[in-house]
Amino acid sequence: MSEGTRILVLNAGSSSLKYQLIDMLDGSRPASGLVERIGEANGRLLHTPRGGAARETLQVFPDHDAALKAVAEELAADGLGLDSPELAAIGHRVVHGGQRFTAPTVITDEVLAEIRRLIPVAPLHNPANITGIEVARALRPDLPQVAVFDTAFHASMPEHAARYAIDKALADEHRVRRYGFHGTSHQYVARATARLLGKDPVGLNVIVLHLGNGASASAVAGGVCVETSMGLTPLEGLVMGTRSGDIDAGVVFHLHRVGGLSVDEIDDLLNRRSGLLGLCGDNDMREIMRRAEAGDEDAALAFRTYVHHLRKYIGAYYAVLGRVDAIAFTAGVGENAAPVREAATAGLEELGIAVDPELNSIRSGEARVISPRYARVTVAVVPTDEELEIAQQCFALVHQAV
Ligand code: ADP
Repeated sequence: MSEGTRILVLNAGSSSLKYQLIDMLDGSRPASGLVERIGEANGRLLHTPRGGAARETLQVFPDHDAALKAVAEELAADGLGLDSPELAAIGHRVVHGGQRFTAPTVITDEVLAEIRRLIPVAPLHNPANITGIEVARALRPDLPQVAVFDTAFHASMPEHAARYAIDKALADEHRVRRYGFHGTSHQYVARATARLLGKDPVGLNVIVLHLGNGASASAVAGGVCVETSMGLTPLEGLVMGTRSGDIDAGVVFHLHRVGGLSVDEIDDLLNRRSGLLGLCGDNDMREIMRRAEAGDEDAALAFRTYVHHLRKYIGAYYAVLGRVDAIAFTAGVGENAAPVREAATAGLEELGIAVDPELNSIRSGEARVISPRYARVTVAVVPTDEELEIAQQCFALVHQAV
């Protein structure tokens, strides 16, 4: 059993590898960074040691193995090498845990095989996560490696929320159900919201709005997720940067039969060329707000559509929860775009929801309340920290395993 207090959190994407070394004694980050464009001609590693200047390496990283080895060398140069006794475990973000993985899990050959078995339901994400695990295990086979799943927090959803109303046997055969994603963020933010309010999470009902490039909402009752907006894949739910969110499945048949698009083309359309990008040609909310302000009609419509769907989910989750104590905005848009927060909550005073314009306009990296004192529902901005959540879950598991 390692006496180490540090966790290396790895988040392997199809062509990227993000990492943070986190010290659990104080939550500090001795180092962090990312490798981009793995497998391409113009690879880049950006390594940031705590308190030091960032170091950039421009070279080809043929695969994730080469990328992780380069990261290990950067860490070693700062005296933080993977062989350091300070390192207690490596925590891996894994997107899809299916129905089997509902909690952080120490990775064994059997666990890895099961994550591989889930590739058909997460073809874009799980293969990269698996590669990250394999190269990290090869580098430090003796160190505990833990998988923390994006879907796990949502596994508590009641069956009637997780089911699609389609043929039950067929759905079961192909594991078609609503899994939800961004779970580590929703879990972290729900708990951080309770802390901000000085309340026990057990007695608190929270709507969490994770609005990044991908976006999802969740309804959390007493710390337990009871509903979330993403489904079998991260396509369902809110309007996102490049994903459509909720759409009549009939649109797919129509585009295929009448529009002549192939299934792969429709997949690409709905996942990568829709959402804000599809509506106005931009997927960055900063640019959309700037254009809308300057009178651009397409950008203004994209903003209104985005907000409309957000409001629908606030209303729906209000009904799911019955009583709402807090609404928490998080991730890039949620933490930074005051006009989105204002528009999404405007006119909901009858529901006890209001936002104070002055509090809403304050820019800060801290969790903060933006609703007026009189409002029954606390509206808050709560910065997410998925890496810290992964590190905490990983550390707790490794210590529990003594
Ligand atoms: P990811 O899902 O990639 O982790 P983030 O949570 O970092 O995304 O969110 C990225 C998005 O946040 C950007 O595409 C942009 O739309 C939005 N964003 C970031 N900063 C601001 C800002 N100051 N104002 C409005 N939107 C912002």
